Amino acid sequence: MTALAGELKRMITADGPMGIDRFMTLCLTHPRHGYYMGRDPFGRGGDFITAPEVSQMFGELIGIWCAAAWQMMDMPAVINLVELGPGRGTLMADLVRAAAVMPGLADTLSIHLVEVSPALRAMQEKTLAAAGIKARWHDRFEDVPAGPLVLVANEFFDALPVRQFVRVGAAFRERVVGLDEAGALAFGLGNDEVPPEAMPEWARQAPEGSIVELSPTREAVAEEIGTRLSRDKGAALIIDYGHMASGAGDTLQAVSKHKAVDVLASPGEADLTSHVDFAALGGALERGGAKVHGPVTQGEFLMGMGLREREEALKRRADQRQRIVISRAAQRLAAGVGMGQLFKVIAATHPDLPDPHPFQRDAQ
Ligand code: SAH
Repeated sequence: MTALAGELKRMITADGPMGIDRFMTLCLTHPRHGYYMGRDPFGRGGDFITAPEVSQMFGELIGIWCAAAWQMMDMPAVINLVELGPGRGTLMADLVRAAAVMPGLADTLSIHLVEVSPALRAMQEKTLAAAGIKARWHDRFEDVPAGPLVLVANEFFDALPVRQFVRVGAAFRERVVGLDEAGALAFGLGNDEVPPEAMPEWARQAPEGSIVELSPTREAVAEEIGTRLSRDKGAALIIDYGHMASGAGDTLQAVSKHKAVDVLASPGEADLTSHVDFAALGGALERGGAKVHGPVTQGEFLMGMGLREREEALKRRADQRQRIVISRAAQRLAAGVGMGQLFKVIAATHPDLPDPHPFQRDAQ
């Protein structure tokens, strides 16, 4: 039993079963036992690998996107470059190196990282210091100061909590984590009936027994991003795994050492995420006042940003062995199966800005 499992059982005994959202929040960010709080989860020796850790090409192409966004915004003299959930800091380092090629850009950057984990903050600090980059850290996006911004988030929204509702007869009941007769953590259903009218349009059609995932937390962050973009001027790029259209289904998943594990088996010691509903995310960005572009698949985005050209340029400076590594990485990031297809990219901008590349309407 993990340390957090014991803590969860005590909480459930005292207060009753908890929603999936609270369970997820505790598993990932409990101050002492949360999954992200004290470890480096990335890489071969960790639990999973993210796109910036696969290849520098990922961050570099996003850096070119950010530089183009800055240009579209008429090159403000000071710009908040914001990253949500920066992991090891690899994406930011690659991004800034590539974006700084644009004359005048580097001096305008004020870098803000939103990160809850003290362990990962320390790692980000180290990565960025080695690259000569100064940054400020915040617990929440709301704490980032006002001003024109370019925001990026890779695999951040999947870590924010979801609620789950199960169709039971004419109504819905919330899925919860409680205790079984043996005292072990177990899924159950809350007592309250949620009427279909309280659900979004698409969810009302969910068949008996099916699970509907909603994320007020993700939508609140996306709406706040939309508000900032429309109020202060700016552009945002959000990348994550998930689906283009809303639909019923249980996508809660725990991962440890690169394998799927039981969601309830090792709370706090396995990563816990769910797929991002990009239709819901786009709706929330729009509610905040931003114009939404896409989503497109990660493969389409990277190819549109010039992945092939970047791959060839890197290979020209590489030896035989490195050339194979570079080709494999490009394939892994963009291929029609795996990451290139499962991951989606959505952009949002101030409504008066032109459509950013590669999201132009006539190009789709
Ligand atoms: N973007 C990185 C890391 C993705 S993992 C990459 O692509 O490699 C998720 C990141 O979000 C981690 O840095 C984690 O500590 C952070 N995180 C998770 N929940 C968070 C929350 N509620 N608030 C702020 N950061 C959070």
